[in-house]
Order: sequence, then C-alpha cells, then structure tokens
Amino acid sequence: MTASDAHLDDLLASLDLDQVCALTAGSGPWHTTPIPEAGIGRLKVTDGPTGARGDLTSGTTSACFPVGIALGATWDPDALEELGAALATEARDKGAHVLLGPTVNLHRTPLAGRTFECYAEDPWLTGALATGFVRGVQGGGIGVCIKHLVANDSEFERMTISSEVDERTLREVLLRPFEVVVADADPWSIMGAYNRVNGTYACAHPWLLTTVLRQEWGWDGVVISDWHAVHDTVGPATAGCDLEMPGPAAHLGPHLAEAVRIGTVDEDVVRANARRLLRLLDRAGVLADPDEVPEAGPDRPEHRALARRLAAAGTVLLRHEPAAGDAAPLLPLDPGALTSVAVIGPRAELSIQGGGSSVVLTHPVGRFVPALAERLGDGVAVTTAEGCTANRFPPTIARHQLEAGDDGRSVTCTYFAGRSLDGEPVATHRYRRVGATWFGGNVEGLDAADFSCRYEASFVPEVDGPHRVSLLAVGRSRLVADGRLVLDGWSDPRPGTWMFGYGNEEVTTTLDLRAGQPVDLVVEYATGTDGRPAAVRLGIEPSGVDDALLAEAERVAADAEVAVVVVGTDGEWETEGSDRPSMDLPRRQDELVRRVVAANPRTVVVVNAGSPQALPWAEDVPALLQVWFPGYEGAGALVDVLVGDVEPSGRLPCTIPVSLADNPAVAAGPASYPGEGGEVRYAEGVLLGYRGHDAAGTPVRFPFGHGLGYTSWTYGEPTVGDAGDGALTVTVPLTNDGDRGGTEVVQVYLEAPEGDLVRPRRQLVGSTKVTLDAGETCDVAVDVDPRALEVWDPAVAAFRTLPGTHLLHVGRSSRDLRGSVAVER
Ligand code: BGC
Repeated sequence: MTASDAHLDDLLASLDLDQVCALTAGSGPWHTTPIPEAGIGRLKVTDGPTGARGDLTSGTTSACFPVGIALGATWDPDALEELGAALATEARDKGAHVLLGPTVNLHRTPLAGRTFECYAEDPWLTGALATGFVRGVQGGGIGVCIKHLVANDSEFERMTISSEVDERTLREVLLRPFEVVVADADPWSIMGAYNRVNGTYACAHPWLLTTVLRQEWGWDGVVISDWHAVHDTVGPATAGCDLEMPGPAAHLGPHLAEAVRIGTVDEDVVRANARRLLRLLDRAGVLADPDEVPEAGPDRPEHRALARRLAAAGTVLLRHEPAAGDAAPLLPLDPGALTSVAVIGPRAELSIQGGGSSVVLTHPVGRFVPALAERLGDGVAVTTAEGCTANRFPPTIARHQLEAGDDGRSVTCTYFAGRSLDGEPVATHRYRRVGATWFGGNVEGLDAADFSCRYEASFVPEVDGPHRVSLLAVGRSRLVADGRLVLDGWSDPRPGTWMFGYGNEEVTTTLDLRAGQPVDLVVEYATGTDGRPAAVRLGIEPSGVDDALLAEAERVAADAEVAVVVVGTDGEWETEGSDRPSMDLPRRQDELVRRVVAANPRTVVVVNAGSPQALPWAEDVPALLQVWFPGYEGAGALVDVLVGDVEPSGRLPCTIPVSLADNPAVAAGPASYPGEGGEVRYAEGVLLGYRGHDAAGTPVRFPFGHGLGYTSWTYGEPTVGDAGDGALTVTVPLTNDGDRGGTEVVQVYLEAPEGDLVRPRRQLVGSTKVTLDAGETCDVAVDVDPRALEVWDPAVAAFRTLPGTHLLHVGRSSRDLRGSVAVER
C-alpha cells in the first residue's frame, strides 16, 4: 500500500530543513539516509543490470544473467520482461528496493569499455528492450534506475569529459531510449552520468534534468547521481539532481542545508527534490515498512533455466557453411555421428561477465567442457588445448604456487594506520592470495582510506625461465623479490585506467626463475590520498609460452573430427573504467583460429566477448557463433546450441565493422573518438552505428540485425495497415521452408523522404521475433510506433513527421531487405 499525495505532503511538511536535506544524500555506499524520528527508513539500491549483487562485503552469491549486449541480441522485449521479473526477486533476496539498471547508453564505438553492458547501437531497439526489462522489474515491486543520462558512451576521461552533441542527435538518438522508457514504463529513477554534456556536468544540468525530464516528458521520478558524479552543491540541487550517491554526503545533505541557510539555494527547490525522494521511498514500500532484510543468495533453478534460455536466444550464428569437403553446414553437431571433438582456446571455460560495477559474485558457474562431454556421451572423446594466452594482466598467483603454512594459508599481511608502513601494526592477517580491494570495513580498526600494508609470501615457480610480473594499485605499491626492489609503483605512480579508472598504470618486469625454487616476495602498499577505493594486485606468469601452446592446439585439432575454438576477451579487457586499446582479439588468438582451421577445416569458432571484435578470418571458417558474455548458464546454452537442442536465435544489435577506422565516430578523427582537450565531439550526429556505415557505403564484416539459424525462411510481399493514432502495422507472410522448427526476427527499416535534414538511409523502426514449425507459414505483424517516423526538426525545435513517401523495408538485417511498402505522410 502506498501513501497518498496528501500524506507525502504532510510528511514533508513535518520535516525540518536538516531532515529534508538529509534525504538528498546517501548514508553509505548503497543506502539513502534514514530519519528514524520521522519513521523514515533507508532505501537500499543494488547493482546492476546483469544480476542483483547486493553490497560488496556480504559475500552472498547471485544469479549472473547474460550481459546487456547479449540481451540486446535477443531482440525480444518479452524475454527481457521475464528477466526483469526474475531480477526483482533477486533484488528482494538482497534486501534491495531499487536495481541500478538497465544501461541504455548506445554502442557508439566497438571500443567502449561498457559496450557489453549496453543493449545496442540503435535507439529504438534499446528503448523497446529496456521497456520490457523495466516493466518486468517494476511489475515485481522493485524500482529501476535507468542509466546513464546521457552521452556516456565511452570510458575515456570518464569523470570529466564533455560530450559535445547537437540537440537533434541528443533528442533523436541518445535520449530516445530514456524517453521511450519514461513514456512506456515509468521508471522510478534515472541515474545522471559522470560526464559533462555540452560543458555542464550531467548531474548539474538544468536543461536535461528539469526542462527535458520533468517539464517536457512529465516524469516525476528521482534523479540519482552516478557514484561520485556530484561536484558541487548549488548546481546539482537546483538542476534537479535529487540524490547524491554514495554517502556520506560530499556536496548535498548537510552541505545543502548550509546552502539554504546562506541563501544560495531556495528551500522550495530542496523540498521539491526531497518530495520526489519520499515518493520513491513510498513506492518502494520503505515508508510502510522500514524494517531491513538481511542479504540472502538462494540459487534458484528457475533463474538458471531462464539464464540458459536467454543466453541461447542471444547467441548469434554469424556464419553457417559446409566445411571444405562437406555437403552440409557443420552445425548443429550430431553426437551420434561423431567420435571425437577438440575444444581449444583460452576461453574454453567461458568468460561470463564484463568488468566493473555490474560484476556479481556469482552462484556456481556451469563449465563448458564437462557439459559438452556429457551431452555428447561416452562414444565421443573430448580433448582440450589452451591454444594461447589471452589475459590482459598476468594472473594472480594460484594457491598451489605459494608455500603454505600450517594453517593452510600462505600469505601474511601486516596492516598499519597511515600510509608509511610504520608504528605498531593495527592487525596481522593470514590469506591465501596477494592483493585485495578494500571498499571499507575489511579490516577491523583500520581506516580503509588511510592505511598501508605489507604482504609476505613465498612463490614457487612451476617452470624454468622468464616470468612476467605485474603490479597494479590504486595508491602506491612496490615489490621486493628475494630482497631486491624489482617493481616500483611507489616513487612516481602514473595515472592509469585499472579499477574504474582510479588505478595507476601497470608496472611490470621480467624475472628469470627456476622451477621449484621459491622466491620470497614482499608487496608493500599504501592508499592514495584522494579518497579513492584501496586496491592492489600482483600477477605473475611464465613468458613466451604461446609458441608451444599454438603448436599443441594444431596437433589436438588435427587429431579430432571436429574442433571447437573458443576465443574472446574477459572482464579485464572489457570493463568500466577503460576503453579497449583495439578491436582485435587479444594476443595471438587470430593466429590460433587460422592455425586450427588450417589443421582441421571442420572447425566451429565461438567468440566469447562483450563487443565487436575484428574477426579478419571470418570468411575462412565454416561456422561462427557469437556468444557474448553469456552469464552463469552460458556453458549449458552453448552446448544446447552446438548440438541443436536449441537454435541460436540472436541477431546482431550492433555492426561488426571490417575495420575500426570504418566506425562512424572513429572515422571522424580523434576529436570525435576518443576525444581531445577534454571534449568528445559526436561528429557522426544522427548517423551512429549502422546508419553511418550505410551513409558512407562502407562494407561491413557483419551488418546490424544479422544472424542465421538452423532453418531457412521465405518472405512474401509485405503490406501496411493503419493501427490507429498514427501507428502502422507492417504485415509480411513468412514461411519456414527448412526441415526443422526455427526462430526468425522480422525487421522493419524506414527509408525517410529526402529533405533538408540529413536522414539515415535506413533506420530500424520495429521488429518481431517469431518461432515457426518446419513448413509453417504465418503472417508476421510488426508494429511501427508513430514516434519512430519522426525527426527532430531544429527549425521548429520539435519532433515532427515530414511530409512525403516513407518506405518501409522488411528484412532479415539492415543489409538483407526482402520487400518494401510505401506510406504517405
Ligand atoms: C557506475 C554505475 C553504478 C555505480 C554503483 C558507477 O561506477 O557508473 O553504473 O551503478 O557505480 O556501483
């Protein structure tokens, strides 16, 4: 039951200025500020789009669903609604009231560190999917926080950069997903981005937060700042940023009360912000029931089943040809007709999620090789080979590589107050690994923002030869090996991108080590001085192992009937805080694919990455699957798809370009990507993604919307009907003319009439996903929202539909069109 408006007004009126202002800032990392004397409890939020993680210290585990781009590839808003409902349950398990997601920024370039979190490069697809997701979550009684408003499409200088975007591009492309969700699903909250928009910080942007969101769109939800995105008091409070996160307050809360007292902020403004917050508390049930629920992590079988279905539904079959010498395509594999399969590659145990705030501590993760072996049965031998290394940083030291003490632990860490490793130790702990991240509270009696520590351990190399050693830290760090300083990240740490962009540049060296001969390691660490989270990480790996791994992979591939090569990235390459350095698969994975296909033409390549990769060999492999970061049930889903228990029914939610330089944002030069002089200019304007590729006529590796399956389709002639209120319905007869059931995504693209404004040659305006039996024909209806035909006309500062002939193309992808109909407007 929720309180009436009058009750909320009364409650607000009963609060004094300090109490009102207390509501405007968090009390900790994940909670709003309670006001017990007024009976107001605290609301809890949790990241994020991939699962409901809970806070970072409870240790409870969670379901880990496929990441945003994998969901984008489902092209299925109904499936996302189902996921949303599951996430509402997961959030409730964590005692949370608001889930920090979905991420509805766009795939402006293939390099953006958070591409994996976002659904698509198209605003309509993103809006439709996000609407489904939000309906599901909020239908389950949990609020969403759609993020990040707006033009937050890269991690480059992410806390300060100004996205320079013309109004039409903002309105028609970048703000569109937010607008659609606001209109169609009424999100309870929206997160203001880190970046500036045309010079003004997004969380202090009156035009964005008040003119557009509140006045034009009529939205009355809460604007929550991204974490540490509020930089002053007056700007954000008067612009309409209702809640500063995390707490304790740096600029709002008590600082806002002070601003009201000295007259720089009007009390009515603050009360209006707090009123919206009270409404959120009310919607979330916090006013009716302030009791808090401890975090739990039940591992729900129905959520595993959903995650598995979603992963397969988002898997894109990019290529599906017979291998050299075969008559039929290689997939699906027939277990009854096989005797051996080689699983090769550094991602054979899949990377399931990207890096950064969306990461969840997952329930047990399904493993691919055992799952495949089980499904193939005893008659099929499954062999494996790593193929090559593909990690970004040398891995942290495994437990068995450290000499353990009697307590089974191998690392002693001594903690000191202050940053200079002196005085009486505050605590001494024994661990199993070197390195940690402190988000506060990890060590009793220690100020997590102001301490130093010394790790001591004995590392036992497993092989002779050179080893790459790497040290990463937020703060200062150094490594002493056998009494010698070998890594110095202490004297002059350089800013880097590790750990949300707070970390220093990696320091590395090579040490020549002998197998079995222990090396005494001492890592010293001190926190930084600016309140950043504390973190340090030591990694070591033997260098120069790839030649042998690649040769072994060729042998294993040649000895098997079929090879499955899994290549890709992981959450260290694709992460919040840093963009990727290139679109190429890391390290020697391209070479691995080429050598395995040469050794065994009957090779299925699986790409396990959260963003487009270059795939220069794509036309030389018979079968190519894109599985993204598929979540904790991704292994089972990949097995389902490989053997044809389930058809891979995903379609690309973004273009895979031939070359990075073809990407419309990148093609416009460094001022457009990554940015220069503190600004990133959206030079491509409304021609983001496939719209720009089409305008420039560049060939692409795989086009937006592309995806094959295990059956074949025939399209009939489309017709168009009036669906009322300006909406249209495009109907097309569709026949599954293959010999098995299958799923198709019928896509409708608008070719707008020519006029003075630049229009995309084609833009997605609707799609429908259907499943038909073998031989079945059906009239597939695709609804076209009247808003999708509109253009933002700067001359009249409004959306309007321009007069003329609007061609609606029906197709299987943005570059595979099967028929057209025309409507006059
Ligand atoms: C991210 C947000 C996230 C927040 C809380 C920020 O670093 O940008 O997406 O919700 O942290 O973890």
